Amino acid sequence: YAKSHGAENYAIFHQTMHLQSLTRMQLEHDLSRAVWQNELRVCYQPIISLADGSLQAFEALVRWQHPTLGLLSPDQFIAIAEDSGLIIPIGAWILREACEQIHKWRNQTHLPLSMHVNLSARQLDQLDLLDSIRGILAETQLDPRGLKLEITETMVFNNLEYAAAMLRQIKGLGIQLSMDDFGTGYASLSYLHQLPVDNLKIDRSFVETIDTSGTESEIIQAVIQLAHSLNIDVVAEGVETVEQANRLKNLGCEYAQGYLFAKPMEPGQIEKVLHKNFASLFDAVQV
Ligand code: C2E
Ligand code: MG
Ligand code: MG
Ligand code: MG
Repeated sequence: YAKSHGAENYAIFHQTMHLQSLTRMQLEHDLSRAVWQNELRVCYQPIISLADGSLQAFEALVRWQHPTLGLLSPDQFIAIAEDSGLIIPIGAWILREACEQIHKWRNQTHLPLSMHVNLSARQLDQLDLLDSIRGILAETQLDPRGLKLEITETMVFNNLEYAAAMLRQIKGLGIQLSMDDFGTGYASLSYLHQLPVDNLKIDRSFVETIDTSGTESEIIQAVIQLAHSLNIDVVAEGVETVEQANRLKNLGCEYAQGYLFAKPMEPGQIEKVLHKNFASLFDAVQV
């Protein structure tokens, strides 16, 4: 079966079987050595301004080049890293890599580019998170305005007061905050104003339906209006079509990220698009 569907499918099929036969403990063990074995890679996905097609920011997305299982996506190992506590050293490593990288690209381009880095719940609960971030900023010499930490609703929902206090301290370092996967969590709209968030990312599941369903675009419109009334700007995640990009732009969404513009890429490939304008990918078409 797998062979008739080509080598790629065979590899996925093989990988799935292999993953199932491996215990979680084995993966956890391998993960504990992944950093110093130099097996983790950070890829970067462009975030584009819908106003003029310019490059605005990147999101850092980790991958794991496992010695026998091949390239693993974060969905295959971040949960293990969280449960085992390994997310603390791994998260710090990713943050350092991403800060170093954006510092370099800001210097290279003289553009106010910023880097989004995903934070996990375990990191937010970590007592020395602030010290860790402060240390990494000092080490990499990055202007804190070049860093946006992404949090999710589920991370803050359990203990809103603690989270809000922690987030205010992070903001005190001059870093910005972005609310990721917005719309997939709980009573989203009701507590957004209690959190010191600068930026909101509309989840892909809403963006996906925008060109077919009127209701979804009304929800997106309401979210964008609410965000703007709180002085929060909006990124649409998972933008794959020209129609989506143009509708989002017409709804007042400032930024977009998705395969229409670029997939997550290695630093070497990003260097080639640092001065690219993406407007021709959507703006020429009227919807
Ligand atoms: P996320 O933070 O919501 O990241 C966006 C995900 O959507 C990425 O998947 C990205 O590759 C994917 N994506 C971007 N544009 C499109 C599109 O147009 N279509 C589709 N179908 N997908 C698109 P990825 O890299 O597999 O990451 C999955 C999740 O793993 C992330 O979701 C994030 O929650 C987590 N993650 C990734 N890197 C890190 C990390 O460094 N630290 C932590 N704690 N979590 C991470
Ligand atoms: Mg994210
Ligand atoms: Mg997201
Ligand atoms: Mg997501």
